[in-house]
Amino acid sequence: MRPEILNPLFAETEALKGVGVSLSKPLGKLGLTRVVDLLFHLPTGMVERVAVDGLKMSDAGRTIIIELTPVDYKSGRSPRGPIRVHAVDKGGDYVSLVYFGGNAGWVRKLLPLGEPRLISGKLESYGQELQIVHPDHVLALNEADSLPAREAVYPLSEGLTGKRMRHLAAMALERAPILPEWIEPSLKAQRGWADWREAVEAAHADPRDERARARLAYDEIFANQLALMLVRASSRRRRGQAIAGDGRLRDQLKLPYALTGAQQRVIREIEGDLAQQVPMTRLVQGDVGSGKTMVALHTLLAAVEAGFQGAMLAPTEILARQHFATISAQVAGLPINVAILTGRDKGKSRESTLMGLANGSIDILIGTHAIFQEAVAYKALGLVIVDEQHRFGVAQRMMLQAKAEKPPHLLVMTATPIPRTLTLTHYGEMDVSRIDEMPPGRQPIRTSVMAHDRIPAVVDGLARHVSHGGQAYWVCPLVEENETSDRAAAEARFAALKARFGDRVGLVHGRMKGPDKDAVMDRFQRGEVAVLVATTVIEVGVDVPNATLIIIEEADRFGLAQLHQLRGRVGRGGGESNCLLIRSDAPLSETARARLALMRESNDGFRIAEEDLRLRGGGEVLGTRQSGEAGFRLANPEQVNALIQTATDDARLLVDRDGGLAGERGQAARVALYLFERDSAVSLLRSG
Ligand code: ADP
Ligand code: MG
Repeated sequence: MRPEILNPLFAETEALKGVGVSLSKPLGKLGLTRVVDLLFHLPTGMVERVAVDGLKMSDAGRTIIIELTPVDYKSGRSPRGPIRVHAVDKGGDYVSLVYFGGNAGWVRKLLPLGEPRLISGKLESYGQELQIVHPDHVLALNEADSLPAREAVYPLSEGLTGKRMRHLAAMALERAPILPEWIEPSLKAQRGWADWREAVEAAHADPRDERARARLAYDEIFANQLALMLVRASSRRRRGQAIAGDGRLRDQLKLPYALTGAQQRVIREIEGDLAQQVPMTRLVQGDVGSGKTMVALHTLLAAVEAGFQGAMLAPTEILARQHFATISAQVAGLPINVAILTGRDKGKSRESTLMGLANGSIDILIGTHAIFQEAVAYKALGLVIVDEQHRFGVAQRMMLQAKAEKPPHLLVMTATPIPRTLTLTHYGEMDVSRIDEMPPGRQPIRTSVMAHDRIPAVVDGLARHVSHGGQAYWVCPLVEENETSDRAAAEARFAALKARFGDRVGLVHGRMKGPDKDAVMDRFQRGEVAVLVATTVIEVGVDVPNATLIIIEEADRFGLAQLHQLRGRVGRGGGESNCLLIRSDAPLSETARARLALMRESNDGFRIAEEDLRLRGGGEVLGTRQSGEAGFRLANPEQVNALIQTATDDARLLVDRDGGLAGERGQAARVALYLFERDSAVSLLRSG
């Protein structure tokens, strides 16, 4: 249970004086539903007010304090338009005070005609005129002293004023308790950090207080790492089943190539884990095309050799079917039984798969999330592999191993190379293997960037490519949050290309029915479809080595990691591959420009991942939509970079010394876990 001391912070914002439904709505838009959210909604800047005697064009852009006398009200033609109050300074110069969505009666009362007031706000020039939109303070002349010369500026949403926000923050701060200290004393002294409560106050008082911000960032990172270390410690305590395969199945594999040194090393690391009773929790990182599937197959076969079942989870239906096809082909002739299970499998075939899993006649199951549904019971599940899956977070990993009486070994394979800091924050509880070598003979993919109006020339190039037996992907832009327009874009492109290439063009998008999608993918795999028009459904994993050209339309709309993934669809065979990034028809932002330039320059997924993190500040590298988990709201990427190692070491040390978090510092650390809502790990303490 949450420590009582935190209860005031986890009350709804409506518990605060003056916060009703009308205010909780705009607050909700900013994700501020509880007092603690207000506390962590830190100011981003500071206004500095300058007191001036008269209005001057040259002061436009500054926040001023000035004595003004209202002389006239001008309400707009439409009742919903802004209310303007004309006012003059001592020298008789005019300014408009503008209120949007205001109530005329209220404005008249605030600014009676002929009565001078002290007014503060940001002076703006509007054509030849000066105006102040929503003055932030209107005071009587004798109240000059009550106006601070400097004030914090908060991120706002419609319906919230800076003044309101500052007031809310102040109320939240009043509720902030003095918390026990969880930071290691010598670290705190060395950094010169204040106590938690002081630090929160300081961060609200002055957004430039780096030291206060660093302490708060550290707290958040520390809580995250502590949770991961608790997960790690608890899974170390668990007893699973040692898997010692004798190699009899793996020896029979007939591969058209030799494993790379890196694949062999990673397989050895995995075998070392499998041989232990402590269940494996290992992350395999390897750039696109580094051959992770083969590592997975070896691991699965090791489990089967030892009499266990292995399950492999893929993030999409397409990928599940592809893995099933690849792996079935590779083990053809071996005395094992591979099955597939996805949300689409129903009726008899599903029944017989469930039966086979329960009676042990199925050795390897490949599928989507359906493989973990309640109804699915395994006879002897010894190994779970999660492939190319961003959204399989620590909570799910925990659940997977916690549910079983004899927890299975777990191998997670990532689609994207992950920067070191993100590996620590997202997978800190896991051991890590890196496939840092590409299969021999791979030629780098040549990447070029083209303007939108070059599309006709691109289509001509595509025609030449296809006439020589080549295959290609044509990726259509992802319109955020809007699958319908994605589909429309893809369908329009499909129609245009079909006019030229006829039946040799195929289309896949997320809204298509499963079997239709399969049919198209199959035809592409077999080479009947030469040009596959697709949305990002092909982003991960799809492997058609003969496709050596990928065209990505409006490439600037994609994140770097995503572009790298998409580009990874080509360059899989021996031949030379090309990637054409087509710019949108609109001017590009600096960041978009930088992204495309980097793509042209580098094929190195790890470098791209680090850059991506720098350019976008995190999230998207691992898919922002999974936010929440290891989404930091206080710590920015630089702070994470600077503090992650210390926080990880500190958390690990604490868990080593006081695994039950029973001591004084341990108790304080529990408070930190709850404060940052990383408390699902606390239950592990009790059961463990
Ligand atoms: P990813 O790491 O992106 O999942 P895949 O496992 O799909 O990569 O492998 C990419 C391609 O490389 C596949 O066509 C696979 O058959 C091939 N491949 C894998 N390992 C080797 C190897 N050691 N030598 C040559 N080709 C390999
Ligand atoms: Mg793969």
